[in-house]
Amino acid sequence: MRMFNKLFRSHFMFHLLLHFIVPLLVALIFFREHWEKALIIMMLTMAVDIDHLLATPIYDPLRCSMGFHPLHQLILVPLYLGLCFIKPVRLVGIGLMIHMLLDSIDCKVNLGVWFM
Ligand SMILES: [Zn+2]
Repeated sequence: MRMFNKLFRSHFMFHLLLHFIVPLLVALIFFREHWEKALIIMMLTMAVDIDHLLATPIYDPLRCSMGFHPLHQLILVPLYLGLCFIKPVRLVGIGLMIHMLLDSIDCKVNLGVWFM
């Protein structure tokens, strides 16, 4: 059990780390001139995880976020994608798309499904 907890915790930390590293790389590569601002805006889109507070338990390693939490519904993905093409809010859109993609990959790796 301790081994499982350790593994689970390190996996969770890795997932959180990805939520930071991927936006950082995107900021450095595509928004070189104002990468700090780009990174901050994309990091703020992590606030989308506030919908986890509505679930019990708040975090469950055996649950797929995609399609479960209200702001992680598949029907919203085209909306998030659309934001990527509206210049004033495109970083919000990009941040949300990265977030949804990482969450979905997490579901695939852990549970074998892209969404539920
Ligand atoms: Zn999420």
